[in-house]
Amino acid sequence: MDFKKYIADVPDFPEKGIIFRDISPLMADGEAYKAATDKIVEYAKDKGVEVIVGPEARGFIVGCPVAYELKIGFSPCRKKGKLPRETIEVNYGLEYGSDVLQLHKDSITPGQKVLITDDLLATGGTIAATIELVEKLGGIIVGCAFFIELEELKGRDKIKGYDIFTLMKY
Ligand code: 5GP
Repeated sequence: MDFKKYIADVPDFPEKGIIFRDISPLMADGEAYKAATDKIVEYAKDKGVEVIVGPEARGFIVGCPVAYELKIGFSPCRKKGKLPRETIEVNYGLEYGSDVLQLHKDSITPGQKVLITDDLLATGGTIAATIELVEKLGGIIVGCAFFIELEELKGRDKIKGYDIFTLMKY
C-alpha cells in the first residue's frame, strides 16, 4: 500500500517553514490504518514484546491497536501532571521547544521487553525521553516503531543502538 497517499502535508504548521506531516487521513481510513498497524505488528511479533509504551498523544494511536492485536498491555507516557499516581519524569527537548514527560512507576516491571511507538521520528527528542523513562524502570527496549521518519532531522543518530522501524521516510 502507498501509505504516503494518506498523509496530508501541511505547510507552515505549527510554524512558518515547517511542513507538518498529518496522519489524520491515514487514521480516518479503516483499511489504511489497519494496514499500517499490521506492518508494525509484523515487525513486533517475533521480538517477544511484553508491553508497549508510547508518548501522548499520537504514540497511543500507533501503539494501542498493536497492543490489542498482540494481546499485550500498553502504558501511556504523558506530559507532566496528567498521570494520577506515582510517576518518574524526564525533561526533554523537542522540535518546537521543551517539555516534561512522565510514566507511572508501576507501568513496567524490571526486565520486561518493551516496544516503543510514536507516529513520527523527527529529532528523536521525544523518543529518547521515552526510552530514558522505560530504562529507568528497568525495561528492555526491543524496538521502536513509527509511521513516519523525517530523515534529515537525524533522529536515528539520537537513539543509536536501538532497533528502529519506520513505515514511511521523508
Ligand atoms: P522529535 O521529538 O523526534 O523531534 O519530534 C517527534 C514528536 O513530535 C512526535 O511525538 C510527533 O508526534 C511530533 N511531531 C513533530 N513533527 C511532526 C509532524 O510533522 N507530524 C506529526 N504527525 N507529528 C510531528
